[in-house]
Amino acid sequence: MGSAGHRGDLSMADVPKAGRRKRRLALASLMGVAGLVAGTLVFQARSRQQAHMDLETALAQLLPRAISWAQGVAADAAARGTSLEPSGLADASTVGVQRPESIRVLMIDRLPIPSDLDLQRAALRTGLLGPDAAGLTLGYSILIRHGHFSRRLLSHECRHVAQYEQVGSLESFLVSYLSSIIQVGYWDCPFEQDARAHELPDT
Ligand SMILES: [Zn+2]
Repeated sequence: MGSAGHRGDLSMADVPKAGRRKRRLALASLMGVAGLVAGTLVFQARSRQQAHMDLETALAQLLPRAISWAQGVAADAAARGTSLEPSGLADASTVGVQRPESIRVLMIDRLPIPSDLDLQRAALRTGLLGPDAAGLTLGYSILIRHGHFSRRLLSHECRHVAQYEQVGSLESFLVSYLSSIIQVGYWDCPFEQDARAHELPDT
């Protein structure tokens, strides 16, 4: 800020002092705000860590139930689903599936939600079975909600099948997949990043 010019000795002596006082006050309140923000951040980090630990503990407790739920859903989709069309088989191979002929796709109105309330809460909390979810892959079983079928979604889900083949069993896959979702969240989970990277364009 520029000087307002000379207005006599008194004002010349006083203005800088007042300015310093103002600056000191401003600095003090800024530090107060900074302290408050830092405190809030530490608190948030702590509660995030707490929530994270809660989820990990919950996962350990829920895993056996989650696995048996997933096995049931996968078996139902395997029994009622249909195998892929030739174009789907080719796309599944393209995204790395070793046995595309084993894939079954079941079209449904809504993705199944576990009746077990603890499991239900965890699934919704991790964003796994949120209202936005359009597809779910469990082993070779792919569930897709009516109105959401597309080459892009199918190739994404097929890539999850390829991941499942790499890990070897539904059980091991769920352990790795759910742990990573808990650690970094749905979007940043490496399995999801990998599936997104393998999506084939809609034609
Ligand atoms: Zn996915």
